[in-house]
Order: sequence, then structure tokens, then C-alpha cells
Amino acid sequence: MEKFIEGVLRFRNEVFPTRSALFEELASGQQPEVLMITCADSRVDPALLTQSSPGDLFVCRNAGNIVPPWGESGESNTASIEYAVTVLGVSEIVVCGHSDCGAMKGALNPDSLQALPKVARWLEHSRAAVAVAQRRNPNADEATLLRSATEENVLLQLEHLRTHPAVAAALAAGAIRLHGWVYDIGSGHVLAHNPGSGRFEQFAATRDAA
Ligand SMILES: [Zn+2]
Repeated sequence: MEKFIEGVLRFRNEVFPTRSALFEELASGQQPEVLMITCADSRVDPALLTQSSPGDLFVCRNAGNIVPPWGESGESNTASIEYAVTVLGVSEIVVCGHSDCGAMKGALNPDSLQALPKVARWLEHSRAAVAVAQRRNPNADEATLLRSATEENVLLQLEHLRTHPAVAAALAAGAIRLHGWVYDIGSGHVLAHNPGSGRFEQFAATRDAA
């Protein structure tokens, strides 16, 4: 714990003064452009991987970057989404999964969750993604199946998002856009779902940037 307390003191004494104007502005309110829904995994750092500053991202995290369909369990997630869309008026929602996701591994192997009844129940929201991945990849190795399930889970949670009245209304008004990403921890790449090709592709593949 000591290193974290030292970090808090270093932030206040060394980092904060260099960006005090930003924090002064943020002290009276936030106007984030993006709602990012991602996994609670310690290796996923939304601000780092998007090179964002405080105030830029409204972040909602849970095991498996899951969005329960409207009316289902997961009230805290639903409330955060409703607030971000209705009150803060975010214009983009990103659902970001990641490689080596423990939640997706659990969803693929429900027998491993016997001692984790709450996790097992939560991952029911990913069951359709697992079913699609298994059907699409018969006889595939574990790594292929995990990657496919991770991608299908992002797409499934985007579908769930559309069942939320606040999101559905904002989509109908053209006030919001939905994005599906998968972050690869080992390579640093973020793959984005391209609705045109139906595949997850590197940004470099769809843009001119290297
Ligand atoms: Zn994860």
C-alpha cells in the first residue's frame, strides 16, 4: 500500500501543480465527450490507451465490459449509462473488451465458476456471445475461441445498449454513436469493429495513419 500512498503525495505535490489550470476548470463540472464501458481488469487503462486527460472520459467498468439489457440486473451500470447519455450528453459510447479477459474465459468455461455464483450469474449476459463464438469456430483452439468470444461479447453488449431508452432515443436523434473495440494487451493495438467489413480491424487499416 505504501507505494500507492507515496503516489498520492507525488500526484499532489509534483503532478497537480503542472496541470492546475485544468483541474481548476474541472472543479466546477465535467463535460466528457465519451462514455467508455470496459473491463475491470487491472491491465486496461482507458486514459492511457486513449491518451486522454481527466474530464475527457466517463468510464463504467465491470467484469467483462458487460451492459445488461434494459430492465435486467446491473442497476449501477444502467444508472451510469443513463446519466452519461441524458445529463452529460456524451456523443460517443465505446464498449472496449480486451485480450486474455478472465471474464470471457469464465464465460467460455462455466464449470470453472462453481465457487463464484455471482460471477456466473453476471456472465449470463455474455452467454449469447459465447454461443455465437462456439458455433462460428467449431474445433478451434482455445486462443481462437477466446478472441472470437471477446469480439462477439463487445457486439452483444452494443446490442444491449440499444435496449436502453436513453441510448435508443439519442441514436434516433443522431446524437450519439456506438463503437466496439478490443484492446490487445501484449501488442498495444486497439482493434475497432468496422460495420462495413463486419470485422475488428486496426485503426491503421482503416486510416492513413501508420
Ligand atoms: Zn476482462
